[in-house]
Parts: sequence; structure tokens; C-alpha cells
Amino acid sequence: MIIIMLGAPGTGKGTVSGMLSNELNIPQVSTGDIFRKHINEHTELGELAEKYISKGQLVPDDVTIDLVKDRLQQQDVQSGVILDGFPRTVKQAEALDNMLENMNKNVSMTINLTTPEKELIERIVNRRQCPNCKASYNLVLNPPKKENICDKCGHELTKRKDDNKDTFKDRLKTYFNQTSPLVDYYEKQNKLYSALVSQSINKMGKDVTKDVVEYIKKNHIT
Ligand code: AMP
Repeated sequence: MIIIMLGAPGTGKGTVSGMLSNELNIPQVSTGDIFRKHINEHTELGELAEKYISKGQLVPDDVTIDLVKDRLQQQDVQSGVILDGFPRTVKQAEALDNMLENMNKNVSMTINLTTPEKELIERIVNRRQCPNCKASYNLVLNPPKKENICDKCGHELTKRKDDNKDTFKDRLKTYFNQTSPLVDYYEKQNKLYSALVSQSINKMGKDVTKDVVEYIKKNHIT
């Protein structure tokens, strides 16, 4: 099963991917997490990626496509994967279709998360992450029990450098210009599942995850 997560920054792609990964027992692959790991380890790729990430821009397609091509060869993703944050351009989506065709596989479904814009910024500035176990918190909606400490593993929480108001504006612009055309791309392939994630209707990531799991079972998606 190959699931793609689409959505603007702050819609909760990472949260829903993590929950789906547990429910469906397939790994989550986040290109953003891979880039951040390279940045922390000061690799050449990390240095390159940081230039783009810090400005809210996308890392160039050729670099990102090669990275995913390698990752999809690895053993742990052979029976399924949740792609969290890839593809982000039509060129990446076409490259993914080609890669999968060569592996006799195809995209099972694309989950498109939408959230009202005014909620997005609140979520981004209040987001904290555990660098150790990847658990995600929101200081208002889902705070850790002990200030700045992960409930699950006790590690200190961190805030992403690009989770600030200015970079968020650029990330949102990038999303609308370069990534949102993918909604059409997957709709035309009949692979789009859209869900609204919003406090205003009391529908959060865990509710969407439950709906998606039911949808997968009902429609025998593999
Ligand atoms: P994310 O953790 O998914 O929010 O990604 C953080 C940042 O990493 C993005 O704002 C981009 O700069 C970069 N990035 C992640 N995935 C991709 C991708 N598929 N293509 C290009 N850049 C990406």
C-alpha cells in the first residue's frame, strides 16, 4: 500500500501519517525529517537543503527525487509506505509514478488535508516536536504534561526553525504555487481522499485517521 499525504504546512500531515503508520503497520517516510537529519549531521545534502528550507522554499526536484528513489529501494518499505511530504511538485509526482511503475507498484491513495488558513498559523507557531521519538505537541491544543518534556520518552522538546510567522508565509505561498496542483493531479487519477481538519468542526488528526482506516477497509484499498 502506498499512501501519499498532501496538505499545506500545519494541516497535520505528520500527525496523521504517524497515526496511520501505527494503525496500518507500514512505515512513514517524511522527506522533511530526512532533510532535517542531514542538517543536524552537517552533511553536504543538509547544507544544500537548509538554504531552501530556511526560506520556505522547496529543495530542488532532482535532489529530492533521487533521495526518494533510494529510500524506496529499502527493504522496510517494500510492503507499504506512507509518504509524508513527497511529492510536492507535479515533476516529483510524475517521477514517483515512473519509479513505482518500474517496481510494478502504484499509488494506492492520496490523503489531502485542508485546514482554514487562520488555524494553520496558530498550529505552526505552537508546534513542538520530540527529536527523539518524533511525537508532536501543540502548546495550546495538545501540550505536554511537563513543560517542554516529551510525555512518551522524556526527551526535551524542540521547535522547528522554519516554524515561525515569516517562514510560514513563504511556505504557504510555496504550497499554493507548487504543491496544490497535485490535488488536481491525483483527482484526475481518481486517487484523492480529502478531509477537513479543523477545530471549528471539532475534527482533528485522530478523527481523520479513524475515517481513513475505515475508508481503506471498506474500499479494499491495498
Ligand atoms: P516538512 O517537514 O514536510 O514540512 O518539510 C520541511 C521542508 O523541507 C519544506 O518546507 C521544504 O523546504 C523541504 N521539503 C520537504 N519535502 C520536500 C519535497 N518533497 N520537495 C522539496 N522540498 C521538500
